[in-house]
Amino acid sequence: MTRPTPAMRRAMADAEVGDDGYGEDPTVNALEEAYATWVGKPAAVFVPSGVMANQIAMRVLTRPGDVVVAGALQHVVGFEMGAAARNAGIQFHTVDDTDGHLDPRSIRAALDAERHHQPAVRGVVLENTHMASGGTPLTPEETERLVAAAGGFPVHLDGARLFNASVALGCSGSALAAPVTTVMSCLSKGLCAPVGSLLAGPTDVIAQGRIERKRLGGSMRQAGVLAAAGLVALRTMVDRLADDHRRARRLADAAAETVSPNFDPSTCSTNIVCFEHPDAESLVDSLAALGVLAGTVSATRVRMVTHADIDDAALEVAMGALAAI
Ligand SMILES: *Cc1c(COP(=O)(O)O)cnc(C)c1O
Repeated sequence: MTRPTPAMRRAMADAEVGDDGYGEDPTVNALEEAYATWVGKPAAVFVPSGVMANQIAMRVLTRPGDVVVAGALQHVVGFEMGAAARNAGIQFHTVDDTDGHLDPRSIRAALDAERHHQPAVRGVVLENTHMASGGTPLTPEETERLVAAAGGFPVHLDGARLFNASVALGCSGSALAAPVTTVMSCLSKGLCAPVGSLLAGPTDVIAQGRIERKRLGGSMRQAGVLAAAGLVALRTMVDRLADDHRRARRLADAAAETVSPNFDPSTCSTNIVCFEHPDAESLVDSLAALGVLAGTVSATRVRMVTHADIDDAALEVAMGALAAI
């Protein structure tokens, strides 16, 4: 929902460009380097979307027929149109992640299943922040424990909103990503860039990732026009996420006081407010009639998200709409 800022539009107009198909776009190269540094990995590749970043990771880290463990509500399982089956030929072993956290024992149990005539688990995907549970951040310690449970197999971190986790926990991106093999983040969400995600990891993995990007049709040419906005996003838009988090928490309090009495608003620590409601769709319709746009995660789960275009006045409108309903 976010739109590029005036500073991004200026940077896009002035961007130095080259042919990224040949690795010759200086702005793309600068963005890849800046993200690799932020997550503390040796290399990164710029891709058109977060889904493509996840798909490239699956294709490079696994082989067709492999089983990958992931939380049942994660984006890579439920929100990518079955892409991992179609693009990487893998199947997911899903484990409970209702509250945004995976139990390391459930990862160990999945790995152990191979001894009992079940297909081999060859990787794990984690999500930070975890969207469907309400933007739940995973600490470096928790990530470390989950990676340890993965028994040496590669772990990909879907960090579409890793910037939010970093701000909410007061941790560096490199601390959050240190335990995992590969990590991806989206510039196009809370950071307001118009297009683009990045996948980072070991040099050989990212070199192979560039080939998979080409195979998926995601290799671009003068993409510096897009990367210029991404650089503004990385450099100037991360700290302000704290404002989104503060407003989301107030919205969570308002939802708990009005339409979702069993919702614990203290579980909201980033920019996503997810709560139960017996008829999520009708609540979303009622909010829309009052000028407030929300979405559903399931028939009984509503999602509201704060972002750069939602200021304190807009927050008051949203809280007023919840109270009116
Ligand atoms: C948005 C999102 C993605 C990627 O989505 P795109 O629309 O392809 O950028 C991946 N994972 C999570 C958790 C997301 O929220």
